[in-house]
Amino acid sequence: MAEILNDGWFFEYFTDNAKFGIKIKEHLVNTESEFQKIDFYESYEYGRFFTLDGFIMLTERDEFIYHEMLVHVPMAVRPQTKRVLIIGGGDGGAVRELVRYIGVEHIDMVEIDRKVVDLCREYLPLTAGKLDDPRVRLFFEDGAAFVKNTTERYDLILVDSTDPIGVGEGLFSEEFYRDCYAALSEEGILINQHESPYYEGDAIEMERAHKKLSAVFPVCRVYQFHMPTYASGHWLFGFASKGVQPTAFDAQAWNALGIRTKYYNTELHKGCFALPTYVRERLEKAKG
Ligand code: SAM
Repeated sequence: MAEILNDGWFFEYFTDNAKFGIKIKEHLVNTESEFQKIDFYESYEYGRFFTLDGFIMLTERDEFIYHEMLVHVPMAVRPQTKRVLIIGGGDGGAVRELVRYIGVEHIDMVEIDRKVVDLCREYLPLTAGKLDDPRVRLFFEDGAAFVKNTTERYDLILVDSTDPIGVGEGLFSEEFYRDCYAALSEEGILINQHESPYYEGDAIEMERAHKKLSAVFPVCRVYQFHMPTYASGHWLFGFASKGVQPTAFDAQAWNALGIRTKYYNTELHKGCFALPTYVRERLEKAKG
């Protein structure tokens, strides 16, 4: 939930009793699609940012952290990845990072809300600017239905979704994860939005996602990154595969690609799977 005060402060409620504020210069867009409420703002500290149903999706200032960790971790594990499916990701940040790999031949992006893509192209060109890359095919439909019906086999599936409420809910179900399993090649990797361990509401979603993924994938790991504008700043992605391990990778080979990053590096890659004790314990308990 969000709140905008008369003195120009935007607040997102992280819980009923804790909120995060950004001082706004201008409210650029205030609209609604058939799926969600969409707002774009210009701010002093975080540049442009946009919200869906009042939840911050990305800000110009910190989106690099999320998108680099979403893409470069699995790409360093399997640099030979050729076919990629992105579910959600309407801002184009995941595509922008992926097209930096010349070996990636084909990217299908399935975003339910065309309006998000159109507005991101207009207001966030630095994030959305690579959506026109010839390797990218855009589909505007429900990602869960797409994965159920596809006959393609992907080397990488990125679930770059909203939280498990509203339109994003189906992307956190065991059935969806089973369909992803079927749509992945034998060496394929699934990366999913794994919520946050800190506030109780998010931690419960983290546990649910881990339990369901663990019921489907033999390899199910979680990695962390620091995201200043997401609840508590401590956020997680899930790494699932049929056998490929996330830390068995050739750091030298990735570094030789010469891809310049601001957050990701191969040392961080090894470290981000080491989780705080309370997070590890909750995940282990959830797995059962
Ligand atoms: N980085 C963001 C975050 O976690 O806050 C996610 C960004 S991205 C904008 C999320 C996108 O997922 C949204 O544009 C939303 O429309 C899309 N989405 C939600 N549910 C979906 C579904 N069932 N199928 C396809 N796209 C979906």
